[in-house]
Amino acid sequence: MNDLTEAILELIRRTSTDLPEDVEARLRAALEQEEEGSAARGALETILKNVELARENSTPICQDTGTPLFYVRYPEGMSTRALRRQIIAAVQEATRRTYLRPNAVDAITGRNSGDNTGDEHYPTIHFEEVDADQPLVIELMLKGGGCENVGAQYKLPDSRLGAGRDLEGVRKVALDAVYKAQGKGCAPGVLGIAIGGDRGSSYLASKEALLRRLDDPNPNPDLDALEKRLTEEANQLGIGPMGFGGKTTVLGTKVKGLHRLPASYFVSVSYMCWAYRRRRMTVRGDEVLYE
Ligand code: SF4
Repeated sequence: MNDLTEAILELIRRTSTDLPEDVEARLRAALEQEEEGSAARGALETILKNVELARENSTPICQDTGTPLFYVRYPEGMSTRALRRQIIAAVQEATRRTYLRPNAVDAITGRNSGDNTGDEHYPTIHFEEVDADQPLVIELMLKGGGCENVGAQYKLPDSRLGAGRDLEGVRKVALDAVYKAQGKGCAPGVLGIAIGGDRGSSYLASKEALLRRLDDPNPNPDLDALEKRLTEEANQLGIGPMGFGGKTTVLGTKVKGLHRLPASYFVSVSYMCWAYRRRRMTVRGDEVLYE
C-alpha cells in the first residue's frame, strides 16, 4: 500500500479552502432571491466574496475549520491501522500549514493538543470494508462548532409540538430545530436528518446524509417530497442569512430512513452551516481523483 499522507493532506487543503461547486451554486442562486440593498443580500455577497478569496489564496473558508470527520471505504486487505496513521499525520501537517485551526481541546483539562489530534475519536474516522477490486474512497467533512451546537434530537411522539410517529411528525420537529437555531448555526444551512435508529446511529446517519450533493434527489419519493417541502417551509420562516431576515434560511435538506425498535422513534437533525465543506478522494493504484 502506498503512503497516502501527502494525498490526504491535499484532500484536507481542498476541503478547508475550496467550497464545493454545488454549494456555491446554491449560494449564488439564493443571492438572486434576496432584495437589493437588504442585509440578507449583503451577507450572501460577503460570504461569496470570502469563498472566492479562500479559494484564490488557499486559506480556510472560515476561521473555525471544524471537526474533521473522515469516512473511509477501503478495499478488503488494506490495513486500517496504516490508514489511520496516515490520516493523523496528514491532519497534523494540515494544522502546521494552517489549513486547519488547532481545534482539539481536552474536555477534562481544557488543554488544546495543538495539532487537531486527541482521543480515539479525534479526528473521527469511520471505516467500512468493500470488495478487494474496489477503489479506496476517503470522504472528509469539516463540521463547524456553531452549527453543531444547534443540532437536535427528538423522540416521537412529541406532544408539545403535536408531532406523531410519521413523516408529518418529522416535518414538525425538523422545522422546530430550524426555528430554534435562528442564525446561530450560520445560516443559510443544510439539514441532515435521520429518522429511526437508536440515539447514536441516528445522529451518525444524520451526518452521513450531509455527504450527498445538494442537487442529488432522494431515491425514495416520499423522502424526496419531504426534503423539498422542508427546504421550502424553512425558507418561509424569515430567519435569513446569518439570522438577518430574508428568504434564504436553508440551502437544502437531506433525509435518511433507518430501522428502529418498536419502542423508539428518534429524529436527529444535523445542521450544517453555509461553510458546507465536504470533499472526496478516490484512489486506484497510483491515481488519485479529487471531487
Ligand atoms: S458554524 Fe460554520 S460558518 Fe459559522 S463559524 Fe462555525 S464553521 Fe464558520
